[in-house]
Amino acid sequence: MLIADNPYAQRYPLWLKGNLHTHTALSDGELPPEETVQACVRRGYDYVALSDHDVIAAVPEEHFPQIIVLSGVEHSAQQHILRVNVLSTLPHDLSYQSVIDLTVQAGGLVILNHPNWGENYDHWRDSQLSTLERYHGIEIYNNVIEYLEGSAYALDRWDRLLSQGKRVWGYANEDTHRIFQIGSAWNMVNVRERSREALLEGLKTGRFYASRGVILEEIAVEDGYLRVRSANAKELRLISLNGEVLERVTGSAATFSLSQARVYARVEAIGEGSARAWTQPVFLE
Ligand SMILES: [Zn+2]
Repeated sequence: MLIADNPYAQRYPLWLKGNLHTHTALSDGELPPEETVQACVRRGYDYVALSDHDVIAAVPEEHFPQIIVLSGVEHSAQQHILRVNVLSTLPHDLSYQSVIDLTVQAGGLVILNHPNWGENYDHWRDSQLSTLERYHGIEIYNNVIEYLEGSAYALDRWDRLLSQGKRVWGYANEDTHRIFQIGSAWNMVNVRERSREALLEGLKTGRFYASRGVILEEIAVEDGYLRVRSANAKELRLISLNGEVLERVTGSAATFSLSQARVYARVEAIGEGSARAWTQPVFLE
């Protein structure tokens, strides 16, 4: 077993907390852009990406020295694509692959949204997720789907992609439409400094974990072991090929041997109630 790609190879003392999928009153969100950002500041977020349906919200940066505001858009053709750190929308008649490629070329982050939304759990079909290339990842949790048909979670879809050898990250997003959703899901990004560039680099290269309530203080891969320490987990699970749980450890810290893992290994941290955190996968050969 060799480590092919470890997103946590570089580690820094600083973590930035925030949400990548936020609607404002410019589309179907509750509050105007500035008030939405203000609510994120009050929640203690370090960053927020505004992502209205097919319209780009702008807020004056100088009004918000406490938080990094990323511009973005939810490209809402038949299926939805989150485009973060972009300044223009794209027409709906472009192919999804073109939307991905144009976004990546412009320095953007591309996430395929809520794959299990809908009565058939197929907002994105498996065949699309496996055929499309160069996107950064999928939403493994989307809070607004808690209130709609389908499942808010897409860990099954993620494990299928990872098992095929696809290297995509898993993001937990609020998909904020109402202010009460703020704090329901976030991504904690490990960064060298508090800047837009460092934040985007961490989000694109997988140096983050997705959370809905569990805090991870350390994620390290060393000498064939994956070590995770949490502030509030009750159980840690090592997950590998086909989503199989290889090991469960009760408590808030664990050092998992990767010797039984195949293709990829990731850790799920289980907290009180529905609180969870998900590390990104370490890819193996
Ligand atoms: Zn949305």
